[in-house]
Amino acid sequence: MEKMQFKAESRRLLDLMINSIYTHKEIFLRELISNASDAEDKLAYRALTDDSLQVDRNDLKIVLRADKEAGTLTVSDNGIGMDDKALDDNLGTICRSGSLDFKNALDGENPDIDVIGQFGVGFYSAFMVADEVTVLSRPAGSEVAWRWQSNGEDGYTITQDKKESVGTDVIIHLKPDTEDEKYSEFLDQYRLQELVKKYSDYIHYPIRMEMKRSRQKPRPEDAPEDYKPEWEDYTEWETLNSMVPIWHRKSEDVTEEEYASFYQDKFGDYTAPLRTLRVAAEGTVSYEALLFIPARTPYDYYTREYEKGLQLYSNGVLIMDKCGDLLPEYLRFVKGVVDTPDVSLNISREMLQHTRELKVIARSLDKKIRAELSKMLSEDREKYESFWKAFGPQIKYGVMADYGADKDKLQDLLLFPSSIEEKGTTLKEYRSRMGESQEFIYYAGGESLQRAAALPQTQRVREAGYEVLYLTEDVDEFCLQALVSYDGKTIKSVTAEDALPVSEESKQKAKEDTEANRPVLDFVKKSLGDKVKEVRLSQILGENAACLTADGPISLEMEKTLKRQNPEMLEYMKAERVLELNAEAPAFIALRAAVDSDPDKAADYAELLYDQALLIADLPLEDPARFSRLVANLMV
Ligand code: ADP
Repeated sequence: MEKMQFKAESRRLLDLMINSIYTHKEIFLRELISNASDAEDKLAYRALTDDSLQVDRNDLKIVLRADKEAGTLTVSDNGIGMDDKALDDNLGTICRSGSLDFKNALDGENPDIDVIGQFGVGFYSAFMVADEVTVLSRPAGSEVAWRWQSNGEDGYTITQDKKESVGTDVIIHLKPDTEDEKYSEFLDQYRLQELVKKYSDYIHYPIRMEMKRSRQKPRPEDAPEDYKPEWEDYTEWETLNSMVPIWHRKSEDVTEEEYASFYQDKFGDYTAPLRTLRVAAEGTVSYEALLFIPARTPYDYYTREYEKGLQLYSNGVLIMDKCGDLLPEYLRFVKGVVDTPDVSLNISREMLQHTRELKVIARSLDKKIRAELSKMLSEDREKYESFWKAFGPQIKYGVMADYGADKDKLQDLLLFPSSIEEKGTTLKEYRSRMGESQEFIYYAGGESLQRAAALPQTQRVREAGYEVLYLTEDVDEFCLQALVSYDGKTIKSVTAEDALPVSEESKQKAKEDTEANRPVLDFVKKSLGDKVKEVRLSQILGENAACLTADGPISLEMEKTLKRQNPEMLEYMKAERVLELNAEAPAFIALRAAVDSDPDKAADYAELLYDQALLIADLPLEDPARFSRLVANLMV
C-alpha cells in the first residue's frame, strides 16, 4: 500500500507539536470535539435542503469511548463524514486558514512555544498524545467508508473500509506513559469528564460517555445479622456537557477565560479578543449576540480571501456560517455569533439575505458596536489605541466609502497624531482645544510624523499657535477630504494658500513683490514648461528657497498614494503642481541676477530649484544624473 507524505508545512508543524514541551496536551480533546460538532452542524445544515439524507437533529451526538485494554480513546460523531478525497485534503495538509500565521510563528528566531500552544492546531494536536491515529469515516449519503491512518511521522495511508453508520470515528492510540508524561490519564473517565466540562461544555450536541459506576447491592431480605454490603459494577450513559451555548449563559457566570477560549477555538485566532460584547434585544425581532473585537489584524484581512460575517443561529441551530449582511463594511473585522428565533430554519441562503429581520438586527448591532468602541475610546484609551492600530484604516475607509455616506457615524472614532498629541487625538478633542481665532482644522501629510512636522507650511501654522494633525497613512487625506468639515470647522491642509488669514497690508506687499519679480517668475515657468502649472512667490518658506504645492483637490501626498495603488488612474488624477519660490532666499537673488546676464545659467538655476522642491516633497527626481552634474558645476 502506498504511503502518502504530509505536505512540507504539516511536517514541520507535526514535529513541533510532537516534540514541543507544550504542557497543555489536553487541548487535543477540545479540538477533536469541536471538529465533531462542526461535522454535525454541516450534516444538519445539508439536511435542510436535502430530504434524502433523513436526519433527525435529535439523534446527532458525539460519543467518547475509552478502551483501557487497547489503550485507545475514540471520539465519534454521526455528522457529515469524509470520503477518501476529503480525508486526503483535510488531514494531509494544513494549508488552510490560520496556517500562515502559524508558519510565521515558526519562522521567527525562537518560535515562542506558548504562542504556538495557543494556536488552534486542530486535528493535528491528536499527535501530541498519540503514536497512531485512525480516522474511520463514512460520508453522509454513501455506503462506503474510508480509513485514514498515520503515526504522525512517516505519512499516512487511506484505504477503503466498512462502517455501520454515517459519521466519523477518530481513534487515538495513546503513547506509552513515561516518567514525565502520563498519557493514560486520557483513558480515565473522570479526567475526560472534567476536560469536557472545561473546554467543551457549550457544544450544543450531547457529548456522551458510558461511565462505569459501582453501587451497593440491595440487602437480601434474609440477610444474616453480620451481613456485609456487597458492591456491583454497572455502566450508565451520561451526557457530559450542559449544552448551553455560551451566549445563552448569564454573562456574570461566564469568565473572561471562557469567552477567550470560545473565541479562539471558534474563530481560529491564537490571541484572546481585545473586547467581548454581549448584546440582547427583545421586541419585534429578538436576538442574542456574542461579539468579539480581535486584538490583531488577521493576516488575510486586506485580501479577497477574508470574508466578513457573523455566525447565524436560530434557537441554537447553526444556519449560516458567515452571514455578511449582519455587519456593515466598516465593521467587517468583528467576529461573533447571533442567535435569533425570528428567522426560520428552512430559509434558503439567497432569501436569508433579504429578510427584514436581518436588517433590523444588523442596524442594532451596528449601533451597539460603535457605542462600544466609543466607550473604549473614552474609558480605556490604551486599549482603543491598540484597536486603532489593528483596524483604524478600516474605519477610515468607512468614512470615505459611498461619498461619505457613513461619515457622521464614524467621525468621532477617528484618531490622528497631532502636534499636541503624538499618540493621537480625536477631532472632538482637537476641536475643544481650538481658540476663538482659529478658523480651520489643520492637517499636514507626509511619509512620517517627522516629515509632516518638518514641512515649512506646518511650522508656519504652528507658529501661529495652531495644532496640526499629522497624516502619515495612505488613506488619511482621502478620509479627511471626505469629511470636509467637523463641527462647523472646515478641515484644511497647511499647504493651502489661504491656510492662514492674511492682513490687507501683507496682501498688498505680496502683490507688489510679485509684480517686481514678474520677469523672473515668467522666466522660470517658461523654462520648466509643463512640469508645473504655475510659478509664484511664497511668503511662507522660511529658510527654504523653493517648495512644491498643489492646487486643486489632489495633493502631492494623494498623488503618491494613487500612483502606488493604481498607476493607470494617474492619467486623470494628477496633482496640479505649483512651484513656490522665496524672493528673500540668496538662491533666488542669484537666479534673478542671472536672468538678465546669463539666461543659460538662469535656466539651470530654475531646474535646480525645481529639483530641490521635488526632494523636499519626497518625490523622485526626473533626471538624477543631470541634477548631480548641475550641483557639481556649481561647486567648481
Ligand atoms: P479546522 O477544524 O480548524 O478546519 P482541522 O485540522 O481540525 O482544522 O480539520 C481539518 C478539516 O478536516 C476540517 O475543516 C473538516 O473539514 C475536516 N474534519 C476534521 N474532523 C472531522 C470530522 N470529525 N468530521 C468531518 N470532517 C472533519
